[in-house]
Amino acid sequence: MQAVVQIHPSQSQGCKQVNRWQYKLDELAERAITKANERGIPVICRCGETPGGTKHIGNFNDNLRSYFIYLIVKEKGYTARHIQTRDNLDPFRKLPSGFYDLKKRWKVSTEELIKSYEKYVGTPLYYIPDPLGCCANYAEHFSKIYEEECREMGLKETEYFSTQNLYKTGRFNPYINKIFKKKGIARDIILNIESSKPRDYFPIWAICENCGKVTGRITTVDLDREEVGYVCTDRYLTPRYKAIGCAYRGTTNWNNGHTKMDWEFEWPAQMLMFQTTIEPFGKEHHIGSWPVSKQVIERVYEKELPIVFFYEYFLIRGQKISTRHGNIITLSQLSEILEPEVIRFLYTKRPQEQRNIDLSHIDRLVDEFDKAEKIHFGLEKAKNEKEKTKLTRSYELAMLGNARKESQKRISYRVAASIVQAYPKKEWVNRAKRFSEVSASTKKRLKLVKNWVDNLASEEFKIKVSPNLPITKQKLGVKQQLMLKEFAQFFLQERTEAEIWAEINELSGRYKLGTKDLFDMLYLVLTGKERGPKLPPFLLTLDREFIVKRLNLRA
Ligand SMILES: [Zn+2]
Ligand SMILES: [Zn+2]
Repeated sequence: MQAVVQIHPSQSQGCKQVNRWQYKLDELAERAITKANERGIPVICRCGETPGGTKHIGNFNDNLRSYFIYLIVKEKGYTARHIQTRDNLDPFRKLPSGFYDLKKRWKVSTEELIKSYEKYVGTPLYYIPDPLGCCANYAEHFSKIYEEECREMGLKETEYFSTQNLYKTGRFNPYINKIFKKKGIARDIILNIESSKPRDYFPIWAICENCGKVTGRITTVDLDREEVGYVCTDRYLTPRYKAIGCAYRGTTNWNNGHTKMDWEFEWPAQMLMFQTTIEPFGKEHHIGSWPVSKQVIERVYEKELPIVFFYEYFLIRGQKISTRHGNIITLSQLSEILEPEVIRFLYTKRPQEQRNIDLSHIDRLVDEFDKAEKIHFGLEKAKNEKEKTKLTRSYELAMLGNARKESQKRISYRVAASIVQAYPKKEWVNRAKRFSEVSASTKKRLKLVKNWVDNLASEEFKIKVSPNLPITKQKLGVKQQLMLKEFAQFFLQERTEAEIWAEINELSGRYKLGTKDLFDMLYLVLTGKERGPKLPPFLLTLDREFIVKRLNLRA
């Protein structure tokens, strides 16, 4: 026995490395199919959103990660639905310091406007006015904008549901009933996690018939008549936001939207009413609500758990995305500098890895996408099988399953950055010809890159070729001048990027100058600055006659 045990581990390990490596989302989709198949229903991929303000690229994780699963399931020949609920009955907390209008122009909230909304703290988003007055209510304003952004990102098959309507039409009734019937267990679950809650706490609130807020604390329950007695009271929505009650006492039927459940109970009820097979959510829910909601499903609703997976948040330059930090990035903003497929590519990354997004270096993401595309078309070789699977699969998903039929060489983001800075707009396409086929996608990338360079690019990408020699000859040593002359000679012929690299290496070796010193000197001579974009492609974008003159220190 011993001998067998000793031989097998290495064999099975080898097996694991070669054959068992699978793309994470494929694995989840397969589990979802098995689960749905057992129940004889389509795979339901669900996500939710609270329309409390302008949605950002972090929120899009929910939508896109569930949509990817939806696409994979369909690709594997199984039926699926992608569902998003709008939690528009959630109580209002605060008007954000800024938000989008319907044309996605950023509006800064005045102090006055923010103050005028304080009276709505605790009122469902569905029942308060749109701050700009253009939509039926507050929730609708933000939902409309986000739905449009999701559509522009290619999520065309999502079915949207309003939580207010789900309450009104009785879809929550069976779950509310369960909670009242099993209130002992429900309380037990809550008090185990939040011991500060009162012993007689109900995870359901009446919507006050007098002031309209979700502040009716339930005092009596009539199981037969399905009625509750309540008193409208002050309520902390979070430790920061307190809704003021009106002290009204009333009795109401608990069905059809007269009451609203706490999130930890409402969320799993939504999962179950749609027969959700699989749902992604952020880490905050994973450690916050999910441990409660999971118990609610099993012990109160007495149903089977859906498959869930959580993802880490995006950070913007190391900070969490929030209006408070003033670092919100929306999908629309990202669309001004990146193609939709590149944006989607960002979400194919491993979910459990925290992503730090730095827009000033977004060229790195684009490079990675371009590389994945090349590997997909066999134009570049991956390091190993694992990288090949990962990148080709990520690429296919980023293309939403509609990968281009033929390969097309995209112009590199950084080369495009040099072109749009070195030349007037009318010359861009002509310059780009050297690097890619000129197609609609090249033109589009040039335009996107221009937005990036103008607004977000890091200083090192900003270049301006000085019209006159920016330094005096005396500043350069004799050796340096000789080397520049020789480099000028090299440019008497048309050169490729690889040739330029080789020449730089050769010169730096022969003249015993470090490549960095050499680069610094070239930047200095060309732009007057000591740093700059990747040099060989930058040189390729410039006129050869100009390079020759400048390197001879004659212009
Ligand atoms: Zn509106
Ligand atoms: Zn009230």
